[in-house]
Amino acid sequence: MSKLYSVVRLKCPRCHKGNLFTKNNPYSFKDSMKMPDRCPVCNQDFQIEPGFYIGALWTSFPIVIFIMTLLSILLLVLIKMELEWFFVAITVILLLLQPIIIRLGRAIWINIFVDYDPEAAEDARNK
Ligand SMILES: [Zn+2]
Repeated sequence: MSKLYSVVRLKCPRCHKGNLFTKNNPYSFKDSMKMPDRCPVCNQDFQIEPGFYIGALWTSFPIVIFIMTLLSILLLVLIKMELEWFFVAITVILLLLQPIIIRLGRAIWINIFVDYDPEAAEDARNK
């Protein structure tokens, strides 16, 4: 569950205190993907290697599939939307959600490589 907390709150996977992203608002377009190089609280490296977050494509893609599946059920089956409008709707919705999806994908990605360390969190609390 601790990984889920880090992903949903976009917190450092190691200490669960520091923010993964510089800005909290995913729609401040200029800086919405900006991440600090290191966790401001426990000093965990957020840029583990050059191009680290290219791999996050593999974690954001399933999120897109999941959202598309939900939207398909909602719009096609429940609302019985015309197919043309469905494609327009799904494109607009996915574009609008893009910054959130990318952030979640990155948070899941770094959580695959970095585990929660209660001592790091404890050290941070005592600072
Ligand atoms: Zn941290």
